[in-house]
Amino acid sequence: MIEYENIILNNAQFKNFCEGDINASSFMFISDDEVFLTNFSYCFAKFLLCKSTQNRPCGECDACKRVSLTSFSDLIIYPKRHKTILVEDIKDLIDNVYLAPLEGDNKVFILNNFSSATIQAQNKLLKILEEPPKNTFIVLNVTNESKVLSTIKSRCKKLRLGVLSNEEILLATDIKNENVLEIVDGNLTKAINYKEDSDFNFVFNACLKTLLELKDSRTLIKYSSMLSKKKEDIGIVLEILEGFFRDILLIRLGKEDYVKNKMVLQDLIKVAGEYNSSCIDKIIRKIVEVRKSMNFNCNVVYLIDNLLLYILEVKFLCKE
Ligand SMILES: [Zn+2]
Repeated sequence: MIEYENIILNNAQFKNFCEGDINASSFMFISDDEVFLTNFSYCFAKFLLCKSTQNRPCGECDACKRVSLTSFSDLIIYPKRHKTILVEDIKDLIDNVYLAPLEGDNKVFILNNFSSATIQAQNKLLKILEEPPKNTFIVLNVTNESKVLSTIKSRCKKLRLGVLSNEEILLATDIKNENVLEIVDGNLTKAINYKEDSDFNFVFNACLKTLLELKDSRTLIKYSSMLSKKKEDIGIVLEILEGFFRDILLIRLGKEDYVKNKMVLQDLIKVAGEYNSSCIDKIIRKIVEVRKSMNFNCNVVYLIDNLLLYILEVKFLCKE
């Protein structure tokens, strides 16, 4: 199913790309915005498969309609059974790739989440990318380019997706809070995750309050329980904290103009006085590490306790 289709079809980067010289059969779309990335490639498949001779994708033809429902037999999407691309997916692709299209002139293969593909799977795909059959298009969706073999990269036409405008985010979601727009920063995946979160203001303010008021380990419990109130908000808590510390670092470096959370600039300036650059850097690394280690079953209170304790320790060491 293509979501946010109207937004993507009208997106300037999408239009430019389709209107430009396509002149390739293998593509790599790169973005850390997964929702935008997948739907961008589905819309691109629609463009490639549309049967109209002008204004593709027309939205009217049989191909367009069924591609939108992802029920078109010449559009094949991987991984089929698992979350990541495995050798069995590539085997299936190879079995399919030499068969003529069933419904039109072209055939499109989309490989989602390709940065998590095993090396074995990537190597197997390489042969096809070297000599793809005529009228066959292969699209790799990549969130982390460093995990993709350079031999694969060099055989694809690469496009790094930009961020969406605030107008596009507003059209795609029902976000009304300006703080949220600042935080999601044109990232559709983040925007969707935030839109149902009416508690965003609470979490945002709780994070700020913690940074302003957390002075010693005696008060730690109070802030830790405030931040870990709702388990499902923990990703947002970490993201807001990371954003704050990145802003604080910018303030330390005299680059206030680049601060994202401008509406709380004065508070952040206050906090910035308590840290030096190297200790802010350490804290950002720690938050990134915690975000990566987070999973469904993690103990949220323990995780936040530890993070706040780490922040206190680093702050203390900085003063020495
Ligand atoms: Zn069409």
